[in-house]
Amino acid sequence: GRHHGIECYFLADRNIRFMCNQHSLGLGINNKSHAIMAGGIRRHPLDEPEKDVIIDGLNLGRAMSFKNVAAGLAFGGCKTTVHMDPLDLNDMHTMGFLAFALDRSRSMTGPDMNFPTEMADVMGKNFSVQFTGGPNAPLGETGKPTAYGTFVALKEAVKFHYQDSSKSLSTMSVAVQGLGAVGWYMAEHLIEAGASLIVTDINKDRSSQLKTKYPLAKILIVEPDEILSTPADILCPCAMGGIITEENINTLPFKLIFGPANNQLRATGQETEIKLAKQLEKAGILYQIEWWHNTAGVLCGAEEYFHGPNATYENLIAKIEEIVPKKTIENLTYAKEHAITPTESAYRLSEQIIYR
Ligand code: NAD
Repeated sequence: GRHHGIECYFLADRNIRFMCNQHSLGLGINNKSHAIMAGGIRRHPLDEPEKDVIIDGLNLGRAMSFKNVAAGLAFGGCKTTVHMDPLDLNDMHTMGFLAFALDRSRSMTGPDMNFPTEMADVMGKNFSVQFTGGPNAPLGETGKPTAYGTFVALKEAVKFHYQDSSKSLSTMSVAVQGLGAVGWYMAEHLIEAGASLIVTDINKDRSSQLKTKYPLAKILIVEPDEILSTPADILCPCAMGGIITEENINTLPFKLIFGPANNQLRATGQETEIKLAKQLEKAGILYQIEWWHNTAGVLCGAEEYFHGPNATYENLIAKIEEIVPKKTIENLTYAKEHAITPTESAYRLSEQIIYR
C-alpha cells in the first residue's frame, strides 16, 4: 500500500504542448490495487514559459502529498499541469487524450486554476473521468469549503499568536489578495467575523461587487501592487503563489500571514521554504505553510470519492471542523515546544506519518 517513489509523466498531443503529472510519496491504494494519488489539474496558457509549467507541477505534486497527510487522508499526492490554450469543448480527440492520461496516471483529480469546469464535465460525461470538485460534482466547487477550512484554522492561529482572549478578528484588519473562487468566501467569512478588510483583485469588478454586497462592512480597495505594502494585522493570500520572497520579507507590514493560496513562498524546494520561514519568524511574522490548512478541497474530494452521489455538504463541514482547526493547533503547539517554525513542524509532523 505504500508508494514512496516519485513518478513524473510528460505527455504531448496536437493541442497540448505537454502535460506533466507529478506523483510523490503515495500512501493510498484503491480497489484496483492501484496507489491513489489525489491532486488537481491546472492549465497553463501557451504564453507561459515551459519551465514554469514543469516546476509548478513538480512543486504542487509534492505539496499535495503533504497536504493529504495534513488532511488525515491516506492518499499520495499529485498534480497535473497542462500546457495548452483553452480547448474547443467539441474537440473529443484532445479531451479523450487528457482523460486517458489522467486514468493512466491513477489520479483522483479535480479542476484547479484555469481548468474550465465545463471541460471536466465533458470529460466526465464522455470518458467517465471521475472528477471531484466543480459545479456538477456532488458537493460543487471546492473554493467555498477551502475558504471555510482556512477561516476556522485562522481563528485558531489568531488565538495562538496573541495568547489574548480579547483579541479576535472583530478588532483586526486583514489584507485579502484575490477575490476568486476561494478569496470571495474568505472575505465573506472575515466580514461576518467583523474584521476590517483591505482587498484587491486584478479583476476590479470583484472588489466593487464585494463592497456593493456588504455596504456596511469596513472594506478598503487597493491596487494589486499595493496589497503587500498596505499595513494590516493579517495578510490572507488568495491568488497566485510566489508572493513571499527573500527580498520582500522585511518590508511586509503584517503580524500573521495565513491564507489558502498555494505555494505562497517563492522557493525552489523544502530547504528554501524553511529558509524563508525562518526569515519570516525573525521579522516577527507568524506563518504556517498553507498546505497544512488549505486542506478542505481534498477533504471534499475524499467525501465524493468514498460516498459518490451520497456525499453531503453537512458531512464535509463536520469533517472540516473536526480536522482542520485541530491540525493547526497541533502544529503551532509543536513548533513552539520544539522552538522551530510552523513550516518546519508541518514537514516534521507529515514526514513522521509518510515514513512511518
Ligand atoms: P481563482 O482563479 O478563482 O481566483 C484567483 C483570483 O485572484 C481571481 O479573482 C484573480 O483575478 C485574482 N488575481 C490573480 N492575480 C492577482 C494579482 N496579482 N493580484 C490580485 N488578484 C489577483 O482561483 P482560486 O480557486 O480562488 O484559487 C486561489 C488560490 O487558492 C490559488 O493559489 C489556488 O491554488 C489556491 N487553492 C484553491 C483551492 C480551491 O479549491 N479552489 C484549494 C486550495 C488552494
